[in-house]
Amino acid sequence: MLNIVIFGAPGSGKGTQSERIVEKYGINHISTGDVLRAEIKNGTELGTTAKGYIDQGQLIPDALMIDILASVFDSFQDSKGVIFDGFPRTIAQAEALKKMLEERGQDVSVMLDLEVPEEELMTRLIKRGEASGRADDNEETIKKRLHVYHSQTSPLIDWYKQEGKYQHINGLGSMDTIFADICTAIDAIK
Ligand code: AMP
Repeated sequence: MLNIVIFGAPGSGKGTQSERIVEKYGINHISTGDVLRAEIKNGTELGTTAKGYIDQGQLIPDALMIDILASVFDSFQDSKGVIFDGFPRTIAQAEALKKMLEERGQDVSVMLDLEVPEEELMTRLIKRGEASGRADDNEETIKKRLHVYHSQTSPLIDWYKQEGKYQHINGLGSMDTIFADICTAIDAIK
C-alpha cells in the first residue's frame, strides 16, 4: 500500500495537492481538519470539543486525535493506500501512526514536506479566509497556528529524516509544477 504523509505549515497547499494525488493514484484521503470540521457541522460532542481548540488555533489533544485517525483508517475497505493530510502534527502522533500501521503490517511510504515561505503562507490564508469564511483563517488565529506549527509540528521534519522517509517539495510555484514534483517523488518509491 501507498501510505503518504503530506506535510507542511497551514496554507502550504496540502489539501489542494492531496485531491490531485487521490485522483491520480486512487488512494483514500484522510484530512483530520476536514474530519473535525464535519463533526462541528453535525453538532456532535466531538465537534464541540474540537471547536474550542480550533478557534484558538491550538491542536486537539493527541490521544483524541489518534483514536479518530485509527477509526477513519479502519473504515476503508480494500484500500490501495492512504494520504494523511494534517496528521501527524506532533512527535507523539507520528509515533502512534507508525505503531498503528505496523500493527496492520504496513508503514509510511514517504513524507512529502511542502515548503512555503512564511509571508506567502500568511497571504494565502488570509485570502482563503475571505473566500471560504473558515473561522480560523483570520490574522490573529493564523499567527497562533503558525506558532504551533513551528513549536510542535516542524520537529517532525527531523523525525521523518531519521526514519529515512523525508522528501522535500518546493511549495512555491504553479499548482501544476508542484504536483509534477510530487508525482516524481511518489513514482520514485513505488
Ligand atoms: P487543518 O485543516 O489541517 O489546518 O486543521 C485545522 C485545525 O484542526 C488545526 O488548527 C487544529 O486545531 C485541528 N487539527 C487538525 N488536525 C489535527 C491534528 N492532527 N492534531 C491536532 N489538531 C488537529
